Amino acid sequence: MTRSETVRPDFRTRLSHQGRRVLVTGGARGIGLAIADAFAARGATVALCDLDPEAVAQATAAIAASGTAGSVLPVTCDVSDYTALAAALEAAGGNFDTVINNAGISPKHDGVAHKVWQMDPAEFRRVLDVNLTGSFNTVRALAPGMVAARRGWILNMSSVAGKTFMPVVACHYAATKSAILGFTRHLAGELGPHGIRVNALAPGRIETPMVLGVAPEVNAAQVEMTPLGRLGEPAEVAEAALWLTDAESSFVTGQTIDVAGGLLMT
Ligand code: NAD
Repeated sequence: MTRSETVRPDFRTRLSHQGRRVLVTGGARGIGLAIADAFAARGATVALCDLDPEAVAQATAAIAASGTAGSVLPVTCDVSDYTALAAALEAAGGNFDTVINNAGISPKHDGVAHKVWQMDPAEFRRVLDVNLTGSFNTVRALAPGMVAARRGWILNMSSVAGKTFMPVVACHYAATKSAILGFTRHLAGELGPHGIRVNALAPGRIETPMVLGVAPEVNAAQVEMTPLGRLGEPAEVAEAALWLTDAESSFVTGQTIDVAGGLLMT
């Protein structure tokens, strides 16, 4: 089943984020690329951060070539390395008022996630370093500027796997995605008095390289469990990210919105 609703043409072209400086981590592909593209289309200056310089350059060029209203800055950096990240953000001009903590990994072995007893402790630590500490690092680097300016928007990427048991992922991934929910709530409380809103997204199964790398029957089983009967599109996650960082959601903080086709209804 494909997407049956059409997004209002002005939804993407309205310049709601003009003047904003947005950091999107893991922006070279998948959900992050769709988010970077959507924010640039809304007039923002987007720092597109990812690991591989060539992938960063390609993604940046693709967005720029689309005739976007905003602009894109390439940032090559590993979010788990605080010192490198802080230096890269400074080199990109600093003063970011919006952070999309999207970079994440979900290691598979021949398309299958390891069980806890098969897991290398180094792999466990790496997933925590990227998925959780990476989000802490961006906030630690950029919160002082937001507090001083008395405005800011932070959006963290959780997952339905942070809310319930999903056999398709491993325990490290589930643990980090649950931790992101607590991190989001806590930061919303801590930073709310400073005019900064902090929310999270919990996507279901979204059609990205991360998900397309597994056996087709795994995704078919997920689709079967999803009331809307399909995988999600990265752009559908990006649209929720736009709303949560827009003035239209000005009284919403500390919340997690599922973008999951009804996969998990609570
Ligand atoms: P993806 O693997 O397609 O893309 C992730 C990007 O993050 C890649 O470009 C990768 O190079 C980058 N990245 C990885 N480690 C990094 C690091 N240390 N520093 C900087 N960049 C790094 O993944 P995706 O499917 O687009 O997922 C994006 C986010 O959404 C992740 O946090 C993921 O956990 C979450 N999510 C995805 C799904 C899904 O179904 N695709 C579902 C729920 C949550």
